[in-house]
Formats: sequence, structure tokens, C-alpha cells
Amino acid sequence: MGPWLASLSLPALFAVVTAAFLGMTLLSSGLGFACERLLRARRIWAVPLDRGQYRFELLGNLIFLPIQIAAFTAVLYAGAIRFDDDASPLLTFAICYVGFLVYYYPLHLLLHRRRWVRFHRWHHRSRVTTPLTGQSMGPVEAIAWAIGYLAIPALASLVLPISAGGFVAHVVYNVFGNIFGHSNFEMVNPLSRTRLASIFTPPFVYHALHHARWTGNYGFGSTGLDWVFGSEFGDWRRLATKVIDGEPLRSLKERG
Ligand SMILES: [Zn+2]
Ligand SMILES: [Zn+2]
Repeated sequence: MGPWLASLSLPALFAVVTAAFLGMTLLSSGLGFACERLLRARRIWAVPLDRGQYRFELLGNLIFLPIQIAAFTAVLYAGAIRFDDDASPLLTFAICYVGFLVYYYPLHLLLHRRRWVRFHRWHHRSRVTTPLTGQSMGPVEAIAWAIGYLAIPALASLVLPISAGGFVAHVVYNVFGNIFGHSNFEMVNPLSRTRLASIFTPPFVYHALHHARWTGNYGFGSTGLDWVFGSEFGDWRRLATKVIDGEPLRSLKERG
């Protein structure tokens, strides 16, 4: 895949990146909305959305997507990620995955500091989350996400062989997880209530509580760093159990 990406002209690369981001966004959001509708027995919040929520979330996506498309096109066209055909896709995926978790946690803590929170408020306007919430954010936060997607493999490629397939697989996984993981329903995954959620995806209620309460559960796609640094909400497992058992949370202030 690396040589193919490198062979594309600038307009062709732009078209490929645009189609990829639009396709991933439409498919992941469509699946999220379908699951919200079909799995109503596993709703997280039985709380209505704010007035005009879909509208501002859509607008947030229209800020996020052009920033990602421009950044990916520029970085890939410049060859800033030095792909190696012999590199292991699995190892590249693991580097990007762990790198993004480790990058995102302190970034998210920073975005909750008084001086920086204005850049994060857009994302938090969604108190009850939807599939459109994941990519709903202001431009500064969207640029920080582009850095997470691109700078980690670019820096890693200076010292390690990086696979284009592994890089693309991570972006697809991350975008899908971000969009689908903001849906207002709970996935049933027996692993996700255990410490293994430190490595694998926790229940969706984990991040849903972050949107409702602001001051904990900062990790993206993992509880590990919240656990290490003591920023987990202590009741998230009890609330996850309740939702999985078919009892939605009826107030944003609900405690478990
Ligand atoms: Zn969120
Ligand atoms: Zn936040």
C-alpha cells in the first residue's frame, strides 16, 4: 500500500483521503444510529438530547473532517511517514494504538485545564452523546487529533519500520471506535467490565459518564491510564452493569 500511496498525484491522494474519511464517517455513524434504534433495551441515557444537538454536532464534523483531510493529504504527499514494505502491520498497529492512548490522555487532561477548556467545550456541548458526537469539536482540538493520527507514525518511522497497512488499519479502527463508541447504547462485552478494559475498549458508558460529569474517565478507548492516575469514576462498572441489564440511566446526575 505504501508504494501505491506514494504513486498518487496530489489531486488523486486528496480524493482518496476525502473518500476514506467520508466513507468511514458515514458507515460508522449509520451503524451507530441503527444500533441506537435496534437496541433500545440497552440505552445508556433515557434523557432527551439538547435542542439543536444534531445540528451543532454536524457542524462540528464539518470542522473536523476538512482538517483531517487536509492534514492527511499534506503529510502523506510530503512522505513524512516513511513506510517500509517489509514492516509488520501488526506491530505498526500496536505502536499507533498505544501511542494514541498515551498521547490522548494528557492532551485530554490539558483540555480540561481552565486555560484550555475553551478549545474542548464544543465536544462537551453533547451531554448525552450520539454517533455524531465523536468528531464534533472545534478546530484546535481537531488539529490535536490530526497530530495524534499522523505525528506518532511519522516520528516512529524515523527509528522503526512502519507499515502503511498497519497505519491505515489503526486510523480505520480509531475513527470507527470514536464515532460508534459515542452512540447512546451499550455493547455487551464481558471483558469490558474487567481490568482487561485497560487494554481493550471499555463499555460505552465509560466515556458517556465523562460527557455527563466532566471531571474523570479521561482515557480514550481504554481505562488503563485513568486507573494508574486515579482519575476513574468509582461507580462506572456498577452503572455499566445496570445499563447492560436493561436499566437506562434516567438523570445525568445519576450515581451508582
Ligand atoms: Zn467524547
Ligand atoms: Zn473532556
